[in-house]
Amino acid sequence: MAIDAQELIQGNYFDGHSSKAYPAFIHFDEDGIHILPKILGDFRRISLAPNEVRIDSKIGTAPRVLRFGEGASFTCPQHLLIDKLAKIQNNKAGFLHYMESRLHIALLALVLSVAAIYGITVYGVPFTAKTLAFHLPEATFLEDESVLSVLDKTLFDPSELPDDKQTEVRQLLAPYLDAYQHLQPNIHFRKMGQPNALALMSGDIIFTDEFIQLTKNDDELLAVFFHEVGHLKHKHFLRRLIQDTLISMLVVFILGDIEMPDLIAGAPTLLLDLSYSRDFEKEADQFALEQMAYFDVPINAFTQILTQLTSASTQTCSHPEHHQADKEANDGSYLRSHPSTPERVAAIERFIKNNQRLAKKENPEGLTAK
Ligand SMILES: [Zn+2]
Repeated sequence: MAIDAQELIQGNYFDGHSSKAYPAFIHFDEDGIHILPKILGDFRRISLAPNEVRIDSKIGTAPRVLRFGEGASFTCPQHLLIDKLAKIQNNKAGFLHYMESRLHIALLALVLSVAAIYGITVYGVPFTAKTLAFHLPEATFLEDESVLSVLDKTLFDPSELPDDKQTEVRQLLAPYLDAYQHLQPNIHFRKMGQPNALALMSGDIIFTDEFIQLTKNDDELLAVFFHEVGHLKHKHFLRRLIQDTLISMLVVFILGDIEMPDLIAGAPTLLLDLSYSRDFEKEADQFALEQMAYFDVPINAFTQILTQLTSASTQTCSHPEHHQADKEANDGSYLRSHPSTPERVAAIERFIKNNQRLAKKENPEGLTAK
């Protein structure tokens, strides 16, 4: 780049480490401000953006000081040229001022910000959580055995189901447990006071006594079992953990305040969490339907057990089935976190309709049962 000697401002450069003054020039163009100190006989070049240089105000005839970097400065008595440089800087600031003072631009910026936040939370967060969940090493999410022990201390009592009933259920599920070996499912029975079933990250699937008692036949039990395996298959527990963490980080980032745990744990994340869990439920339902079709389990058994769970919940004013592992469990979260029963039943009917058109197809999981 050729520099016209007229454009050079002559002065002294101080590196901020010693009091030694180096003869130097400053030159500015559309790329920014360039400082050219002569150090040990050679001209160096320090290029800076206009906003990286602070120009001190003019005080009488004292040399002007330009400050930049970590304590470095440039001094020069040529006020006219420095004023010209200051003007270039102000023009940049003036543009920002212009933007800020126009209401329609401010509103547009607000709308764009809201759209960006919406896009990140609704699409970005679930996508990132899914990608992370499927790329984390297995060991990361096998270490939550403690979740079951926490639930044992808080939500569950030991099962009172007769041994022969437990054995019967285990025998029913054994061939499928084999088929899903790679997901490491492990069946547990617990008493909870309400019909419920849930799947933990470790592969533990818990059926409550009340749920087992509610089922009228093996097919209904299998329907819910497949649904829980669907949660394991899609790593929903881990994805929800990651999503909650990402959302909390986002809230902290937006509000810029890490001292707001109540707000973070509160409304904004709850609403998002709600739609995420509904998506997970739909995904698990879809998996269950595919598996039922593959293993020739009558699909209407799914509708039946859903209906029974719903009526059990209205009768007891508690909440059937499931994922109520967290503390917010007993305040209507079944209704909050699950798609409504008619919605789920409609999805089942759609599946049956589509499935009739397909000949018995390959299992989407590539699984085989004995
Ligand atoms: Zn579920």
